Amino acid sequence: MTIASAIPSTGHGSADLHFGQRIRQDAVRLDRTSLTTLQINVGKFCNQTCEHCHVGAGPHRKEIMTGETAGRVIEWLAASRVPAVDITGGAPELNPSFRRIVESSRALGRRVMVRNNLTVIFEPGMGWLPEFFRDQGVELICSLPCYLEENVDTQRGEGVYEKSIRALKMLNGAGFGPPGELVLNLVYNPVGAHLPPPQKALEEDYRRELGERHGIRFNELFTITNMPISRYASYLKVIGKMDSYMNLLRSSYNPETLPGLMCRNLISVGWDGTIYDCDFNQMLDMAVGNGRPLKLWEAAPEDLIGRDIATGDHCYGCTAGTGSSCGGALV
Ligand code: SF4
Ligand code: SF4
Repeated sequence: MTIASAIPSTGHGSADLHFGQRIRQDAVRLDRTSLTTLQINVGKFCNQTCEHCHVGAGPHRKEIMTGETAGRVIEWLAASRVPAVDITGGAPELNPSFRRIVESSRALGRRVMVRNNLTVIFEPGMGWLPEFFRDQGVELICSLPCYLEENVDTQRGEGVYEKSIRALKMLNGAGFGPPGELVLNLVYNPVGAHLPPPQKALEEDYRRELGERHGIRFNELFTITNMPISRYASYLKVIGKMDSYMNLLRSSYNPETLPGLMCRNLISVGWDGTIYDCDFNQMLDMAVGNGRPLKLWEAAPEDLIGRDIATGDHCYGCTAGTGSSCGGALV
């Protein structure tokens, strides 16, 4: 199997229906059934400018969570029973409150996941990260869109592959990945305008190629579909593939993915404290449940359960083929 292969259409889709119409036709109500994860997006500042980025992140973005907002988020977490925290960005480690958010969440006994782009470890003054991650016992979810240098550098920038491999070796050296207990998961997303290949088969390819070429070990590979929003939408328009990509997502709609959609179990909080049904809706500024915009501290955790999810046609990105979520494929 090659990385360029795509999952064929499941045939469930109807090419011209908006996502909301599609799920109504299937008599599905998309609501939040539990609240197991607080996903904190600390802002759009990043050391990279990847072409597929749904955040539109980069070194010149100024939107970052302040220390005051971080404090209010931690207070809300402390008053809740939400068991897991998923920290993302941008490159979340570059936020001045990053350490505090991780340490406070761990001190509260919560599971902490950090979405790490690997190269941030080599930014000036960031060499402390591997030991900090180890000492805090965080779970790392690291982006590596291919095991081949050319594909990674095409999507993420010149020299990113070489740095990513060096970072993975450092993380292995710090005890992340098997046979140790510290979790190091990798994220694949397609380099072209196609769906991810089957997750388990690709994981085997990654394990073999990264192991044989570099001696790198990791726990799991998550395949994530590129979302047709933000910088990736601009890219699709530039190469003239926006319509064909949307048609691919629509025609690959798979209702079996609906029960596991990540929006059914998490709440996403943005850099200014506003909450959303997911990180994608956050980038589209779609208020939680299509209601009035709410700050995290205006919402009691129990009030978020049972609320309808705000949807749009980008949701076809989560429901195409085997589905896509923060934790990879859904079915
Ligand atoms: S995809 Fe990740 S690493 Fe790349 S620009 Fe966006 S936030 Fe930064
Ligand atoms: S984009 Fe995905 S996670 Fe977000 S609301 Fe739509 S289906 Fe749910």
